[in-house]
Amino acid sequence: MLLTFDQLCKKYLIPPKHFFKYLQLKNYLSSKLQRIAELPPLTKIEEACIKNTKGKGFLSIYYNLLMLSSKDSAIQEDIDENDWNQACLKAQKQTINTCFKLLQYKWLMRTYITPVKLHHMSNDIPDICTKCLVEKGTLLHCLWECPKIQDFWKDVIKYLSEVFKVKIPLKGKLYVLGIYPREFKQSGKKLNYWTMDYFKPEEPLRYVGRANRVVALEAKVDALSAQVVRLADKADDLESRQRRDNCRLIGVEEGFGNIRPEKAVAELLKEALALDYTPTLDRAHRSLQPRPKDGNAPRPIIVKFHYFQEKVDVLRKAMGAGPITRNGKRFYIYPDYSATVRKKRSAFTEVRRLLRRCTGVKYGLLYPATLKITTPAGEQMSFEDPIKARHYVETNLRPRETEGE
Ligand SMILES: [Zn+2]
Repeated sequence: MLLTFDQLCKKYLIPPKHFFKYLQLKNYLSSKLQRIAELPPLTKIEEACIKNTKGKGFLSIYYNLLMLSSKDSAIQEDIDENDWNQACLKAQKQTINTCFKLLQYKWLMRTYITPVKLHHMSNDIPDICTKCLVEKGTLLHCLWECPKIQDFWKDVIKYLSEVFKVKIPLKGKLYVLGIYPREFKQSGKKLNYWTMDYFKPEEPLRYVGRANRVVALEAKVDALSAQVVRLADKADDLESRQRRDNCRLIGVEEGFGNIRPEKAVAELLKEALALDYTPTLDRAHRSLQPRPKDGNAPRPIIVKFHYFQEKVDVLRKAMGAGPITRNGKRFYIYPDYSATVRKKRSAFTEVRRLLRRCTGVKYGLLYPATLKITTPAGEQMSFEDPIKARHYVETNLRPRETEGE
C-alpha cells in the first residue's frame, strides 16, 4: 500500500520538485515486489532495532546478529578474536603506503566493490568474477577462491619459498589478512616487509647484511677510483718532471756512424742552430722501437741536457730559427713530454692549424695543455678544452679558407 505523492508531501513535508524521484522509486518497487500493497519484509537487524528500542542488552543482541551474519562468507579457516585483532592492527601498521592500507581496510571491512555488489547496483552488470568468468564474484572469490587468483598466490609462494628456503603453506588467512598459521612461530623482528617477518630471524638479516655490504663496497670503489685518478696525475707529474731536461728530435736520419750519439747530437745542434757553444748532453738515444726499414720515418731521438738553461736556449732558438735541417733534410726539436701530456697537447693540433690561418692572432700551447690566444684587439683567452677552443676560433676569429703561414 503505497502512499500517493500528495499524501507523502503532506506527511513528510516533501517539496513538489521530487515528483520524478517518487515515480522512479514507485517503478523500481513495483518491478521488484509482486505485491506492492505489502511492505517489504524486514531484515533481522531492522527487526531487532524495532523490537528492542527500550529493552536492555540491545548491544549484545546486535553484536550476536552481526557475528551470525559475518560467519557466512568468512574465509573457511578458523580465525579467533586474537587473530582478528592482529589482522586489524596489521592493516594499519604493515605499510606506510596509503594505497595499500586502504586496500587492506577494504578487504577487512568487506567494502571492496565486487562484481556481486556492482550487480546489486545495476542489473546490467553481470555478477560473475571478471577473472575466471565462471564463478560468482563474491569478495572471498575475488581475493582467494578464484582459480586464477590461486595460480597467482601459488607463484608468489613458489618464489618466496625459493628465495627464503622455507616451505610456506597456501592459507587464505595468511595472504588475505596477514594472519600467521599456528605452526609458524612469529619472530619478534620488525622488518619492512611483513612477508619476511615470520622467517627465521637470521634469514632476512642475511639479506639485509648483504645489501649493506654492497653499499659499503660501492662507497669503497668510489673512493679507490678517486685515489687512482689522483695517483695517475701524480705519476704523470713526476714523469714530466723527470723529462724536464729532455728534448725530442724528430726526423733526424738514422745512423751516426762510429761517433757516440751524445757527441753526434751535440754537434748537430750546435751546427743546425748556429750555437756559439757545444751543449753538454748527459744522454742521447733513439726511442725504444725496432730500427725502421729503409724509406720509413726515422725513430725520434731523446736527448737529456746536463744544463736546463741550455735546453731552454736550444728550444727557443729552434722555434725562432725557421726550418732546421741536417744534410738538407728538415727535422724538428720538441720538448719531451709524457705520453699523457703528449696526447692532451695533440688534441689541440686542429685548432692550432686553424689559428695559423688567422691574421694578427698570437697563440701558444702552455704546459701541460692550455691554449693561450691573443686576439688582434689584444684580448687574451685560454682554453683547456680543444673543442671549446675550436668553437671560439671558428666563430670569433674567422680563419682564412686556404692555409698560409
Ligand atoms: Zn574467479
